[in-house]
Amino acid sequence: MNACLEAAAAAKAPVMIQFSSGGAQFYAGKGLDNTDFDAAVAGAVSGAHHVRTLAAKYGVPVILHTDHCAKKLLPWVDGMLAESEAHYAAHGEPLFSSHMLDLSEEPLEENIAICVEYMQRMAKLDMLLEMELGITGGEEDGVDNENANPEDLYTKPEEVWMVQKALQAVPNAKFTIAAAFGNVHGVYAPGNVKLDPKILRNSQEYISQQLGLGAGAKPCSFVFHGGSGSDINDIKEAISYGVIKMNIDTDTQWAYWDGIRSYSEENRAYLQSQIGNPEGHDKPNKKFYDPRMPVRSAEETTVARLGQCFSDLNCVDVF
Ligand SMILES: [Zn+2]
Repeated sequence: MNACLEAAAAAKAPVMIQFSSGGAQFYAGKGLDNTDFDAAVAGAVSGAHHVRTLAAKYGVPVILHTDHCAKKLLPWVDGMLAESEAHYAAHGEPLFSSHMLDLSEEPLEENIAICVEYMQRMAKLDMLLEMELGITGGEEDGVDNENANPEDLYTKPEEVWMVQKALQAVPNAKFTIAAAFGNVHGVYAPGNVKLDPKILRNSQEYISQQLGLGAGAKPCSFVFHGGSGSDINDIKEAISYGVIKMNIDTDTQWAYWDGIRSYSEENRAYLQSQIGNPEGHDKPNKKFYDPRMPVRSAEETTVARLGQCFSDLNCVDVF
């Protein structure tokens, strides 16, 4: 979270920080049990307050979002929405900016019906809803779609229109659609991922026709899941077809780890015992094994990687 804020300040750009349910539970502490997803609610709420407290110090606008929420996880979003409703009553704005519902494993009609229900509740708080159509392949946060039916990895324009029609009918609705175009969670060897961003362009054209809009209109706001490891040309193409948000998890995980890895490698001789290093058998190593040292190194490599993300996503010098 701090690395995201630091990177956003350096890029002079707004940033989106999102919690997965597993990440929120981790933030609460793995020692807590997670009955009814209460720890995952508490972790995300605590993270939201952390970010809100510091965003003003860093001087960056932050969108606070939560990631994939499958049907069985809906109590997690319910818990966070209750927090946003209370926050709205007290301060005139929700605690979180937006949530994602991922009901892509349910029949399309049920996916849409549940999203409409939540959109109604969230629109009253001026919150945005992200929904998923089709399946993001790969593995993330314990959800494994590595053996998904290949056809489900590519959304059809008719399905995008069904969602657009249903959600835009809700007063004050703000929503994004994570439509599948062959994208996957995780980073794989080149050639294993076949992205087809033109699905997004075809969807924009189809919906524009339904709405009687002119050529080149982009009535849909799309989300690109599994941005890590993607070719910059695919990213630029997807943006040109109306992608307004891209998730980058695996690449930032690697960047964070790489900072710890390189710190440990560079200071190996100082990290094997509390006392004794190449400068003397009685020299203390406290300054090297202070956990802030490897974590700061992780933050620095993460800030550098996020700088590339801001640049790739046309998000530099925005304010
Ligand atoms: Zn995702």
